[in-house]
Amino acid sequence: MDECIFCKIVRGEIPSSIVLDTDKVIAFLDIRPVNKGHVLVVPKEHFETLLDGSENILRDMIVAAKKIGKSFRKALKADGFNLGMNNFAAAGQVVFHAHLHVIPRFENDGLQHWPGKTYDEGEIEQYKEKIATFL
Ligand code: AMP
Ligand code: ZN
Repeated sequence: MDECIFCKIVRGEIPSSIVLDTDKVIAFLDIRPVNKGHVLVVPKEHFETLLDGSENILRDMIVAAKKIGKSFRKALKADGFNLGMNNFAAAGQVVFHAHLHVIPRFENDGLQHWPGKTYDEGEIEQYKEKIATFL
């Protein structure tokens, strides 16, 4: 994908702050961090969403995210970290080259959790049935 910004980063054509580089993935700092130190784990091979990635590469991405989370705890004295992935535009995906967000978290860092909705009576069972049917 010639125009893909993350492919350009993978090829070293535009600068990035790389923290980890393996045979299948790289990880670099997000230029607009949710908290400072926010890292993106990016497969070297171009694919758009989680649904397009081979299990091999997805495994390497999650292993890289674990290493980064471990480093946050030591290097940044992070109290925790979030792992996130936006898949498809409706979920907020802006760069259509799959990536995991690894975000360091600190007690009282001011970020809020997603609001929780509620189910109507019996609705949770219907959702369970619908989703389980396609697994
Ligand atoms: P999303 O597709 O919504 O999961 O997010 C894309 C993320 O990529 C955003 O958090 C951007 O700040 C980040 N981003 C976009 N361009 C660059 C870049 N050149 N270097 C580092 N991070 C980037
Ligand atoms: Zn790409």
